[in-house]
Amino acid sequence: SETLSINKGHKLTVKRGNIVEEDVDAIVNAANSRLDHGAGVAGALSKASNGELQRVSNAYIRNYGQLQVGEAAVTSAGGKLKCKRVIHAVGPIAHEVKSDLACSQFIYQAITNSLLEAEKMKAASISFPALSTGIYAVKKSLAADAIFQAILKFHYTSSKVLTDIRIVILDEDTYSVFAQHLLAIK
Ligand code: ADP
Repeated sequence: SETLSINKGHKLTVKRGNIVEEDVDAIVNAANSRLDHGAGVAGALSKASNGELQRVSNAYIRNYGQLQVGEAAVTSAGGKLKCKRVIHAVGPIAHEVKSDLACSQFIYQAITNSLLEAEKMKAASISFPALSTGIYAVKKSLAADAIFQAILKFHYTSSKVLTDIRIVILDEDTYSVFAQHLLAIK
């Protein structure tokens, strides 16, 4: 893994692993607008929660309706995951967005909105996936840029509580792109 010390005791880590195993206050899900957790990170989280995450997500959609791209919504995690809450972030789908700029803005928004939710719940630790780089097929390098920008911007403007921010990536290719971007920031 690669870690960037942002300032006193605050760190940003990129690590390889299965995000469902993260022992943090909040895990961010790579969700779709319907919170329909089929495959990828969403499917893995839902499965690991024994279907509980899908049940609470269905209740969320009944109460509040669908999410927009760039939005984030919080549900409980059910009993099985190590975290108490899941933050569902909706990233852009590459072929539905007009330009790279729009794509990167949606990712930036989704990450920033997730961080704001984490701050509201007073989370000290959070794990993000490489949002939109799987099924949503956004260029890994573009996604990495937008994700790091959002995290660093947020960090400099708020939150004394959220000290442990992680990006957890299952596959080697995506991991190496993100790790190299973090090294470039250092
Ligand atoms: P999206 O639909 O936003 O593209 P995906 O879940 O398809 O989201 O993929 C996002 C990224 O997460 C991809 O790089 C994918 O390889 C990776 N990924 C898939 N499953 C896991 C997992 N269990 N833990 C960590 N990363 C994962």
